[in-house]
Amino acid sequence: MALTPEHVRDALSTVEDPELHQDLVSLGMVKDVVVDGKDVSIVVELTTPACPLKDKIGGDVEAAVRSKAAELDEEIGEVKIDFTADVRKANERVRDADNPLPKVKNIVAVGAGKGGVGKSTVAVSLAVGLARHGAAVGLLDGDIYGPSLTTMLGLDQIQPMMAGEMLLPFEVHGIKAMTIGRLVSPDSALIWRGPMAHGAFSQLATQTEWGELDYLIVDLPPGTGDVPLTLGQLLPLTGAVIVCTPQKVAVDDAVRAARMFQQLGVDVLGIVENMSYFIGDDGKEYDIFGRGGAEAMAERLGLPFLGGVPINTALRENCDTGNPLANFAGDDGLARNLDDLCRNLAAQISIAAATGGSAKPTMTIS
Ligand code: ADP
Repeated sequence: MALTPEHVRDALSTVEDPELHQDLVSLGMVKDVVVDGKDVSIVVELTTPACPLKDKIGGDVEAAVRSKAAELDEEIGEVKIDFTADVRKANERVRDADNPLPKVKNIVAVGAGKGGVGKSTVAVSLAVGLARHGAAVGLLDGDIYGPSLTTMLGLDQIQPMMAGEMLLPFEVHGIKAMTIGRLVSPDSALIWRGPMAHGAFSQLATQTEWGELDYLIVDLPPGTGDVPLTLGQLLPLTGAVIVCTPQKVAVDDAVRAARMFQQLGVDVLGIVENMSYFIGDDGKEYDIFGRGGAEAMAERLGLPFLGGVPINTALRENCDTGNPLANFAGDDGLARNLDDLCRNLAAQISIAAATGGSAKPTMTIS
């Protein structure tokens, strides 16, 4: 008896997605199975193009099919696995009539307890990094008090455009971006009182023609002010990422930011430790701020740790010159560090989608 597509599906029903803890068939990830003589071709649809476990899933699929063939005493040739991806929505409210952005599958806020820790740098890196994997990504500069995306994305020479009442996002570096920094004079002090901050942020978020997006990354102002509150009320958030540096004072502020999201009913999808350490010209690693502080905090609070980014001069230069993709081009550790952040975040979003919007057990931060 020859191996049939049913045998293959049977084999795949024993392969678990390592993060979602269900088998690939039940998760609807097996899109096609073709048996051609001794060769088998399988199409597996991942829940994100930035899946960190693609290789592991591929290995497990092949092993399961070969083991099934051995069990049936069938000879088998090539096992070809093609991956596609369909990002899933993490929040049921995404389809609600009161959702102003129903075409955006996942909205992720990037916050920080204090300014200057690299929140915008991480937000930009997550956005362009996810887009590099093929996801449709938007980036909203919600830091209306100190917008930095004009510089970090190199938008100074691009004119903002409108289509009717809607703002057209800037299409740069593979993403769609919007910032208030390009709509008001660069020198005007952006002092918003509460209701104005609410209005400015809401307009920027909802009157931009984002189109269909897998991920909308929102760079929030630092601290725990009006904008996160507005964001939490206005849009169905998949969750938040908190960026912090390792030293105790920064970690303490990050815990306050985590507590704020918890009070807003927003899951924290993960912690990023920026400026973890510095690599000198001598190749040695210097723990300037006490490497590991944010990771230890994540562990203490039971929150996912998405990864660390060292202090890196090229990263700073590429941010200042509006060239964020260059950070992913080198073969030094930086590109890997940043890509790991993107993959780990994508995985947490997939987990949130699979568990109906709750990425993890409720945390209590006191
Ligand atoms: P925040 O949004 O938290 O205020 P930014 O992302 O604007 O912080 O970063 C502040 C400054 O620090 C920027 O000039 C940025 O280029 C630089 N920076 C951020 N992270 C790093 C890093 N890992 N290595 C070197 N410079 C960094």
